[in-house]
Amino acid sequence: MKYIIVGAVAGGASTAARLRRLDEHAEIIIFEKGEYISYANCGLPYYIGDVIKDRNKLFVQTAASFNQRFNIDVRVTTEVLSIDPAAKTVKAIKQSTGEVYEETYDKLILSPGAEPLRPPLPGINSEGIFTLRNVNDTDYIKRYVQQKHIKKAIVIGAGFIGLEMAENFHDLGLHVTIIEMGNQILAPVDFPVAAIVQQHIRSKGVYLHLNTAVTGFNKIGDEIEVGLNNGEVLTADVVILSIGVRPDTRLAVSAGLKIGTARGIWVNEFLQTSDPDIYAVRDAIEFANPITGQSMITYLAGPANKQGRICANNVVLGNVQKYHGSINTAIVKVFDMTMGTAGTASKHLKTANINHIVSTTHNGSHAAYYPDAKQMTIQIAFSPEDGRLLSAQVAGFDGVDKRLDILSSYIKQNKTIYDLIEFEHAYAPPYSSAKDPVNMAGFVAENILLERLKIFYWNEIDNIKPEDVLIDVRRKDEYDAGKISNAINIPVDEIRDRLDEIPKNTTIYIYCEAGLRGYLAQRILRQNGFDQVFNLSGGYHTWRVAAEESGMLVKEPVLVLHELAK
Ligand code: FAD
Repeated sequence: MKYIIVGAVAGGASTAARLRRLDEHAEIIIFEKGEYISYANCGLPYYIGDVIKDRNKLFVQTAASFNQRFNIDVRVTTEVLSIDPAAKTVKAIKQSTGEVYEETYDKLILSPGAEPLRPPLPGINSEGIFTLRNVNDTDYIKRYVQQKHIKKAIVIGAGFIGLEMAENFHDLGLHVTIIEMGNQILAPVDFPVAAIVQQHIRSKGVYLHLNTAVTGFNKIGDEIEVGLNNGEVLTADVVILSIGVRPDTRLAVSAGLKIGTARGIWVNEFLQTSDPDIYAVRDAIEFANPITGQSMITYLAGPANKQGRICANNVVLGNVQKYHGSINTAIVKVFDMTMGTAGTASKHLKTANINHIVSTTHNGSHAAYYPDAKQMTIQIAFSPEDGRLLSAQVAGFDGVDKRLDILSSYIKQNKTIYDLIEFEHAYAPPYSSAKDPVNMAGFVAENILLERLKIFYWNEIDNIKPEDVLIDVRRKDEYDAGKISNAINIPVDEIRDRLDEIPKNTTIYIYCEAGLRGYLAQRILRQNGFDQVFNLSGGYHTWRVAAEESGMLVKEPVLVLHELAK
């Protein structure tokens, strides 16, 4: 058997290694147009930021070590130009000599990845404007920043890589501005969770311009002027473009392979393309999302490496293992904060017409009485019919990765919020609470499903009618320090004695800081004859952060204060 692989980084290298483990006698050739194979793309921003100091640590394997360990013919700086599926050959060019030659294959595996978008804006090819995909890009950026004594950086695009670059530049002492066209950072995440991270970024002195598009660049001396669609012009010494990537389907298209609805290479459940002798993995392919059923492209290293193994199994053993799709579990460090997401965010569930309920909870990362407990926010979406968990987003300072991975595995296994209630965790005060934040998310969701808790959301405050009542059930000092317009204050511990102050035949909206005291107040009111009582999901904390970030808080209050029933 003769296997050829195109692309020697995440998907390609892991496929090649597994092929060898399964088939000791096969001929395996891997083509890589770059100089390096099997390197840690995910570590590149941290090498630029000097967090990873030793460049060699970025390389998991070299062509020589890969050859020695796996007996694989690694051909770096050799680009595959075309595929002839009928003849089962590829044509490649050796960049050092210009030699073009053909290789035959029995099975071909494509893992050409994705390429960063570089829109045709005026001046975009000026010196000092970079995209970051590979080691060469990294070397250019690092050298440029060091040699030119860079002081000001602009990062365009607030996705995962953009935020990592912003943090790393900031930590190098640069003045950093992020420009994002959308109304929030981190597009896969829902607004209220993104808003928490946005405030954190700003608190570090990084400038964040949302709803702002770049119109062009103008290089003047060493400085780059960056024109914005609001007429402003910012200046920087270096610009990183991280506005997204697109699957590299050029080879597949020219070979006549089927391209799917998301513009990635179409593959079946065995990662086999429309040609039975050609398989494809990772950033270049699209696959049905397990939650929405819609075809989509996942640009993540974890699925890339796992697909490599599945693909090799199917190539060697004959379509024995199905790939089940990715729920896009991803995590990002933003200074000392961590934000992670798994499953399909509420906004995307809405687009896909998937009925769901969202619930936001804030809890301590571990027992409050043990030092250094940090607040953690968990937002989940689940099905109102059967409680199936559809997404989870977690933001906080400690233990976020642990909770996200737990929630991700529940989502992946089609588990429900009832399973979160029963989640059994290792507990001691430094690590968690007797009820873990994951349990708490489940408890609240169950209360919602059983209608013990009726909720409303931060962006529904404006829907409260003048005849309705909005009650802040926090302590008076908390209320005095900041409240939602038109809210009256009845602390939860006083509510039983002040029931006669609350009108019975109206809708009552309640909030506390995080949601718990609001829930308690709601239970008291509901069991005292108040039927229409709604508690603010995520409480004042979620409302304040989301309202500030959406600009709502600077608006004039629109509510008319409801007079307390006397
Ligand atoms: P790649 O790893 O990009 O490999 C494709 C290779 O194919 C490239 O080296 C390319 O040169 C080669 N190639 C393309 N066409 C040809 C051809 N015609 N002939 C020969 N060779 C060819 N994901 C995470 O999950 N977590 C992270 O923290 C994370 N951080 C990232 C940070 C950065 C800076 C980048 C760029 C990516 C990051 N990712 C992260 C994404 C992750 O690295 C990718 O999803 C993953 O590498 C995709 O694997 P792949 O094999 O499809 O493509």
